Amino acid sequence: MTFVVTIGCTEAEAAEADLPGFTLAAHERDGGAWWLELYSEQRPNEALIATLAALAPSAKALPTVRVLENRDWVKFSQSALVPVTVGRFHVYAKPFAHTLRPGRIGLKIEAGRAFGTGHHATTVNCLAAIDAHKRHGGRVRRALDLGTGTGVLALGIAKHWRRARIVAADIDPVAVEVARTNLRVNGVRGGRAPGMIQTLRADGTRARPLHGRYDLIVANILARPLRRMAPEIVRALAPGGRLVLAGLLQGQARRVWAAYAGRGLRTVAFPRRVAWPALEFTRATPKR
Ligand code: SAH
Repeated sequence: MTFVVTIGCTEAEAAEADLPGFTLAAHERDGGAWWLELYSEQRPNEALIATLAALAPSAKALPTVRVLENRDWVKFSQSALVPVTVGRFHVYAKPFAHTLRPGRIGLKIEAGRAFGTGHHATTVNCLAAIDAHKRHGGRVRRALDLGTGTGVLALGIAKHWRRARIVAADIDPVAVEVARTNLRVNGVRGGRAPGMIQTLRADGTRARPLHGRYDLIVANILARPLRRMAPEIVRALAPGGRLVLAGLLQGQARRVWAAYAGRGLRTVAFPRRVAWPALEFTRATPKR
């Protein structure tokens, strides 16, 4: 069950609004009235509602709370065009280009036929993990975005680590096509050189162009394939490398975690209080 907290705001407040760890959307009605929507997988408490209200001091009315039941998230993520801010990233579609503020890293994603507009909690949590890794001084020379969808995570990595070589793979040829378009739209070149993203169709990491070791792997897929692919994904992770897994529900997290932790990875994050946790691991560097 998803809760939506809504409050009226000004356009400036909509553009400034940021609530790390939450999906926040800004909408404009005909006539220039704006409002903010906060999506929460837990029933929002007073503190959260007050935090949202503080983002819109101009509001004349208190925030309202409603419930979205059995939401089709994929459909939702494809229809929603509203911008989402996660850490330094600002994910937006063309009509919202004016909401990009200085200091933010714009990821311009056209809503369309692939998953990954930034509205699903799994995408948000992966972007947050990528952003935190950068903030904490993580170095990335070679990265893999497995199940790239729109290419949003690969683009986030490319913007944070400008010299990284990135592979963005998806089993779905349509996603690969969409990801290529989004590279172009975001001014990132396709290819294998530093600063480029190589997009390709692949099932898992076994295809030859994916061979090698990565110091960052993000895989926002689903619990079952993540468990199945644990051996190959762990093998593809370089010593000292960072792994981010998402697409799993809290109730599935423990089994996915076990499949990776059991292969010698060290757990960096296992969020318990969110419906769609992103699990984070590192691979130990060999002892000298
Ligand atoms: N990375 C994007 C999209 C995630 S949706 C984001 O974070 O928003 C998951 C994607 O994984 C889909 O595009 C799906 O086609 C792809 N996928 C599913 N199984 C896969 C596999 N075995 N190998 C590669 N990609 C896969």
